[in-house]
Formats: sequence, structure tokens, C-alpha cells
Amino acid sequence: MATFSARFLGCKVSQTDAHDVRERLLADGHEERPDALGADVAIVNTCCVTHEAVRKSRKAATRAARTHRRVYVTGCAANLAADAFAGLPANVRVVARRSEETPEFVAGDVGALGCVQADARLDRVRAFVKIQDGCSFSCNFCVIPLVRGASRSRSADAILREVERRVAQGHREVVLTGINLGCYRDRAAGYKLPRLVREVGAVPGLARLRLSSIEVNHVDEELVDALRETPTVSRHLHVPLQSGDDDVLNDMARRYSSTTYLRRLEPLSDFNLTTDAIVGFPTETEKAFQRTLDVVNAAGVTKVHVFPYSPRPGTQTAASDPVPPQVKKSRSARLRAASDAACLARWRTKVGGDDVVLVDRPGRGYGDDYSPWLLDAPVGELVRVRGACVSEEGILAA
Ligand code: SF4
Repeated sequence: MATFSARFLGCKVSQTDAHDVRERLLADGHEERPDALGADVAIVNTCCVTHEAVRKSRKAATRAARTHRRVYVTGCAANLAADAFAGLPANVRVVARRSEETPEFVAGDVGALGCVQADARLDRVRAFVKIQDGCSFSCNFCVIPLVRGASRSRSADAILREVERRVAQGHREVVLTGINLGCYRDRAAGYKLPRLVREVGAVPGLARLRLSSIEVNHVDEELVDALRETPTVSRHLHVPLQSGDDDVLNDMARRYSSTTYLRRLEPLSDFNLTTDAIVGFPTETEKAFQRTLDVVNAAGVTKVHVFPYSPRPGTQTAASDPVPPQVKKSRSARLRAASDAACLARWRTKVGGDDVVLVDRPGRGYGDDYSPWLLDAPVGELVRVRGACVSEEGILAA
């Protein structure tokens, strides 16, 4: 038996990939240890969305190499830039493989003991269930299609069985996760995302269902109906904007205009909408940036995940990065400030009203629209609350 730790950097897909390796090692009889204590084996599932993400991934691998006998560097950065890990100690192994192949490869290398724990519970109240991987779009700045390949989907049957298993393990909330969820297809069984949402949402015992992210072009009537008509679906949707300026969107090859973005989200105006935005894209002028602020405001978006533009090797815009770092920094700060103000404004609407909060860690939880609440209740419980006031961290329950 080996002891191991598994950690991830980056997005929820990276988290599910790290968990797949973790689950596979547990199934083979190995024992998990917290990262800080050191172990025989470390899994570091990496991210390459920005230059900074690759730097942090390398740092995590270096640190793990000091406290573990063997380190497996997996995930996006391992597939994009194996040379980013050049010069690391000899006990670091870079696994440049597709996510589907990685657990098998790592488990084979670590060595199996036999199946002793095939049902590893995820360590959180919510479970992230991957339904799709890869992307067949080709946004000019994005490295994901290069490192994750074309879009492919799991069978609806496998997903529904996993959700049933997660609910049986005690998870109250499931987040359907993927790189481009709207591309979900199980052609043989006749599923697209809306049908999957309805059926996953109806799994007995599931309290709450969310989508990790969805491209605005996939927010159509069929999906909106499925979200509205499935009682377990949380009133929250994360819809990447990237820019509010049509010329920049065109230069990014994003396939929609700011008008389309706003029109498609209109039927969800009561939802808590969150987004991603890139600032400092090569053709982003001050006026173009201002339009991003305007669209964020007009769409009623609350939380904006801001990504200062970082050229990625192998992409159409790899050679171009003319916006000075201090301009990116100042635009990022302005967009984050607008996002903070929008969050506070939404939270204030909850004061005096009722909500049902899923407590996901001591003292904190999330309401039906994924707004954060501060309350005192047992982790894992769904609690009916009334808003008393707001702080910078969330809504205080009375
Ligand atoms: S939709 Fe565009 S930004 Fe998103 S993963 Fe695909 S190529 Fe990248």
C-alpha cells in the first residue's frame, strides 16, 4: 500500500479530474493523507489558463517533490507545457495524457493492491459530476481545445448512476461540470443538456442541482424551460461574457455579440448571474473595456471572475500582448469593484426575506441562487433562514 495526497489547481473540471485519480487510488487500496503531512505519492492536477497558473502549478509540484517520494503532475499544464516542469527533481513525473486515461495510468504506475474501497466519498457537501470534457470551439485566446481535445460526453446512464451514488453517499448538492456543457450529447440514448438536467434534478434525495458554467449561445428556450421547471435547480447560472465589446468579441472569435448576450439572458433576469471576463485582450481599448462594464451592469451580473489577459502558447493570439500590465491591473480592479458592488446590491435585496440555505462549511452556506449566507447550523443541513443584514462576506441570517 502507498499513502498519497491529491490536489488540484484551477477550475471545477480540474477538481473532478483530481478526484477521479484519488478515487481510483483509494479503490486500489492506497491510503489518502493530507498534503501537509507528506506521503509516498502526490498527485498535482495542474492548470494552464494563464502564465500565472502554470507558474503556480510548477511551484506546487516543486513543493510536493520535497515531501513525497513520487509526484505525478497531471492535467492541463502537463499537457500544454511539459517543459514548464523541466528541471524539477527526478521524483517528479509529468503525465501528459487525456483526463480519461490519467487515473488508469497513475494507478498502474503506483501499483494496485486489490479492490478495497470502490466507493470513495468526495470530501464536500456538494459533488462535482463531470458530464463532458474538451471543447470543439476555437476561441482565439483559448488553450483548452489544445490540452483537452475535442468535445466528448459521458453516457447519460453513467451520469445518472454517479449522481445516485453521490446522493447515497450523503451529498446534498450536485454540480454538473464540463468544459463546454452546452455541447453535451448522448446521441444513442437521445439526451442533450436540457433532458439531462430534468432527469438528474429528479434523482430522489437530491436537494440542489447547478450547472458549473454555460456558453450564452447554449442558453436557449429548451434549456431555460428545463432550468425553470426542475424544482431542485438552483436559481444561479454562470455565463462567460469575456468582453462586452463587439469588436473584441469578434477578435476573440466568441460567436456572439453583446446584444445576443443580453437578449439570451433576459428570460433569466431573476437568476443570480455570474460571469468570466478577460481584461487587457490585445485589441481592448479603454472604450471597449467600458463596454464590458456596461454589459455586466445591464445583464445584472453579480460576481465577475476577472482574468487579466495572458497569451497562451499555440493560440491565435499567442504573439500579441500590447496592453501594459498596469493598465490590465487597473481595469481588473475596476471590474472587481463593480462586481463587489453588484454582489452587495443583490445581497441587500435578501434582507427581511426568506431563503433556504445549504450549509457547506462551519458558519457558511449558499441560498437558492448561490448567494453566500453566514449562519450557525450543522454542515450538510438545509436550513430555512431570514436575512438580517449584509456584510462584505455575505448575508447574515437572523
Ligand atoms: S468555448 Fe472558447 S473559451 Fe471556452 S473552452 Fe471552448 S475555446 Fe475555450
